[in-house]
Amino acid sequence: MPPTENTPTTASASSHPAIEFKDVEKSFGPTTVLKDLNFTVAPGERVTLIGPSGSGKTTILRLVMTLEELTGGYIFVDGQPLTHEDRGGKRVELPKKRTREMTTRIGMVFQQFNLFPNMTVLENIIEAPVHVLGKSKVEATKEAKELLERVGLADKADAHPTRLSGGQQQRVAIARALAMNPEILLLDEVTSALDPELVGDVLGVLRDIAETTDITMLLVTHEMQFARDVSHRVMMFDGGQVLEEGPPDQIFNNPQHERTRKFLSSVL
Ligand code: ADP
Repeated sequence: MPPTENTPTTASASSHPAIEFKDVEKSFGPTTVLKDLNFTVAPGERVTLIGPSGSGKTTILRLVMTLEELTGGYIFVDGQPLTHEDRGGKRVELPKKRTREMTTRIGMVFQQFNLFPNMTVLENIIEAPVHVLGKSKVEATKEAKELLERVGLADKADAHPTRLSGGQQQRVAIARALAMNPEILLLDEVTSALDPELVGDVLGVLRDIAETTDITMLLVTHEMQFARDVSHRVMMFDGGQVLEEGPPDQIFNNPQHERTRKFLSSVL
């Protein structure tokens, strides 16, 4: 169901953005992918990144998850610096332990599921709650079963991922991310590797999460109808910069830039 308003409804009392990029720069060797990138995502907001391949969308998600090293600037999560902070004009790297603690509040689902193949579905889901959050196995198992119910896979708890379809594996990966009770969920082209007939179930699960939780979501997708339905805001990237942004109706129906029009006509 489309959001009725373009501002997120959230119970969060935080006055900080959920995510803030401040003067972010990311280079891979001599290649600068992101430069002077600034944007914020409000608590409970769902923001979709669109744009041509190579424009830096996945890199943005991977930086938030600290899977890539930030080469310049700062990222804040709920107002707290994630990997670096400014101390009197000096950019200082934070201790890894602190960064790791912050990332426990962030979940990410990848294009390629990334489940542990040697573990059952249930074991995949309870691994981090038990080993990272220190939950008891009994509690983690109870929550995992509820999550499996929610993603429509209650009967697959003891299966191994290799026995499941791509769509089922992706729903397990979503349950695994939710098991950490994240404040922020990053979704990186989560349906791109799926056969077309399996896409609907995965998007259905994500729609349900969007409608029933106030988790902040930052997503990259080529599913434009889905982006239109669940996003509060769409950001169009080109060459590592935000070319334009706005509510989905505005971006999809009345894009301001020729580049956005061209991109949309190539994917719609
Ligand atoms: P998008 O998600 O918009 O397709 P990416 O963030 O995946 O874009 O990539 C942006 C640019 O960064 C591309 O030119 C890509 O080749 C480059 N890039 C991404 N990851 C790496 C890496 N690990 N090493 C070198 N270049 C990379």
